Amino acid sequence: MISTDTWCICQIDDGSWRIAWQEVYALIVEYQRIKPELLAPAGSLEKCRIAFLYGADAVYAGGKDYNLRSHANNLDFEELAEACYLAHSLGKKLYVTVNVFGREADIRALPSFLQYLQDIRVDGIIVSDPGVLLLANHWAPDIPLHLSTQANTTNSLSVQFWQNQGIRRINLARELSFEELLEVRKVAEIELEVFVHGAMCISYSGRCLLSAFLNNRSANHGLCTQPCRWSYSLVEEKRPGQYFPIREDSRGSYIFNSKDLCLLEHLGRLMTIGIHAFKIEGRMKGALYLASVVRTYRQAIDRYWEAPGAFELDEKWEEDLERVSHRPYTRGLLFNDSIDACQGVEVSTGYLQSHTLAGIVRPAPQTRWETPLFSPDDGKVWTYIEVRSRLTSGMELHFLGKNGSTTVCVLGDFQDLSGNHLPVAHPNTWIRVHLTFGTFPYQVIRTAR
Ligand code: SF4
Repeated sequence: MISTDTWCICQIDDGSWRIAWQEVYALIVEYQRIKPELLAPAGSLEKCRIAFLYGADAVYAGGKDYNLRSHANNLDFEELAEACYLAHSLGKKLYVTVNVFGREADIRALPSFLQYLQDIRVDGIIVSDPGVLLLANHWAPDIPLHLSTQANTTNSLSVQFWQNQGIRRINLARELSFEELLEVRKVAEIELEVFVHGAMCISYSGRCLLSAFLNNRSANHGLCTQPCRWSYSLVEEKRPGQYFPIREDSRGSYIFNSKDLCLLEHLGRLMTIGIHAFKIEGRMKGALYLASVVRTYRQAIDRYWEAPGAFELDEKWEEDLERVSHRPYTRGLLFNDSIDACQGVEVSTGYLQSHTLAGIVRPAPQTRWETPLFSPDDGKVWTYIEVRSRLTSGMELHFLGKNGSTTVCVLGDFQDLSGNHLPVAHPNTWIRVHLTFGTFPYQVIRTAR
């Protein structure tokens, strides 16, 4: 809340702190008309489509054919070009992550990839290694460079340093408090981006070798398997199989284990100080997570933008965020004067998940004569669904709308693509059904677990 006298007093739930009103006022005047970009993860072409459908302004994706990354949750050359075309045809943007801390072999492989990114005209390249930045400046000079959170930018001088290196946008470290964000905002002449949702590291992002040691999958190559979430015990060398508990408290010890970030209710404050982009974490997350989180933040940003004074959280948003696979939520370290900061470590390893992905609506396969748009018997339209969970008649399905609405229906009779009536549909098969409401291609469907 802002008073009009000399000081601005910002109340943060159980605590309060003061900053000079004049400084905040100047920031507000300068930045209040910046509508932040909603930036979503896209681990595949399908997820690109889903992110855009549900309201992302931009997506970030990795490439996999340049010897830096090998995980399936990335796009090959052709898919990157297609994602770029898709983004631009919708008036949206594609950024490509090249945020590896390059080894010599990486550095040798990178020029052709960077040149390719320039050729297909991606909207930004996300880097963290100064060596990669040098290469990108040389091989993709026309593409704006964004600094990854893995560069751990925590202060205004670092911002100035990266600004001088030609960086267009910086993703600030998740470890900053709101006061520190303000300090940085005052001096930054480039775009600032912050994470608003998703998993958090217990270390500074990217400065962690747990996954590399325990699973041979390096966080620095975007392959983290999150061993920080596991439960650890003590084993004496000569007594294998005997696990001695380490007790942090009566519930056990999960010393590395963070809750998930969720800044939904604080978007307004971040918009007031002029953050250019709100980023959602999770390139390896599934379609249900992506659709639910993106549509929630889309609506929240739009609603705050239209009427900041009347902004209220919508129950539906919280419901959506609760229904995806997640760990208990925290507002992280942004308001580190709050009790929440002490509760950032979660004391169980399990993810909360009340719902799961039932399927995705697909365009009718055009090349198969047996997959008509209409039923020849009664002329009703078929809806084609790619099944992702085991489905049976009588199950309740939720079709997620783009505008935040959800259409609930009970699954009736359904057929395979050859017209055979099925008692059960298995994951990775297709079915067709008659529905009494409209759907759209790539619409995400959830069901209770
Ligand atoms: S193991 Fe945990 S702390 Fe380490 S990089 Fe992965 S998510 Fe972050």
